[in-house]
Amino acid sequence: MQKTIALVAHDHRKPDLVKWSLAHKAKLSKHKLVATGTTGGILQKALNLDVHCFNSGPLGGDQQIGALIAEQKLDCLVFFWDPLNPAPHDPDVKALLRMCSVWNIPVACNMATADMIVTSPLFVDDTYLREIPNF
Ligand code: PGA
Repeated sequence: MQKTIALVAHDHRKPDLVKWSLAHKAKLSKHKLVATGTTGGILQKALNLDVHCFNSGPLGGDQQIGALIAEQKLDCLVFFWDPLNPAPHDPDVKALLRMCSVWNIPVACNMATADMIVTSPLFVDDTYLREIPNF
């Protein structure tokens, strides 16, 4: 079953995301990929795959991905946010991570976690249904 995976990286973390995405290109190519603007443009070129690009993060891209989560249209988020540099859109970053907690969305903020998510047997198990919280 095709999943929708969102890919986002802050500027200093973009090289890590490119490296990670290339390592998992075969798996990622089976799914629908969405990303914030700058990240998406870089990944499209690096992977030669179609990536739907939202606005750049500071211009609302994180919020657009958050909206996908609220509408139950996202299955997984790989979000390499920068722990060492302040972001002008820090409230949006927090809001996006909060949406993942609210809606029980698998989220990876570093390469090791992202590795484990995409290689998990559950990732390709069509019978696994993520529990959607009932508020
Ligand atoms: P960008 O946004 O992909 O447009 O750089 C990432 C972010 O800062 O959320």
